[in-house]
Amino acid sequence: MSDQFQGIEPMVYQSKINVPYSWWAGDTASKFFIKLRDEKKIMGTKCPSCNKVFLPPRKVCPSCFIENTEWVSLSGEGTVLSFTVARRQFAAIPQDKKIPVIWGLIKLDGADTALLHYLDEVRPESVEIGMRVKAVFSDTRKGAIHDISHFKPVK
Ligand SMILES: [Zn+2]
Repeated sequence: MSDQFQGIEPMVYQSKINVPYSWWAGDTASKFFIKLRDEKKIMGTKCPSCNKVFLPPRKVCPSCFIENTEWVSLSGEGTVLSFTVARRQFAAIPQDKKIPVIWGLIKLDGADTALLHYLDEVRPESVEIGMRVKAVFSDTRKGAIHDISHFKPVK
């Protein structure tokens, strides 16, 4: 060690690395994403016992523990159950998203569960619980949840 580093305390910082990986989405999620990509259809699964409709679709009903064999097409319109506003950039927000970002918990008509997604084309101070919204699809769809670009208010 050269003399210029004598007496300098070694500092250690904790950090994380980004590790890209691939995983199989499974047959239920794959069907959901293919319908979004190819047909702009939002599909949920329905429990044959309690009749609950799940969006995002679930393979098995968490209450009845039986397979959800029926698929239901949802309109793409629904109600905001809750929301939050991010006013700073952080890792979970894609770099191309404009800050502030609004996330909404959206229950589509005909579904019994809610989907977490972006709300846009609305100012944060104008978002309300109970607000009616509809899905806006991305122009380029890749078979992912962001094939829905965002939800916007129904006028
Ligand atoms: Zn059930």
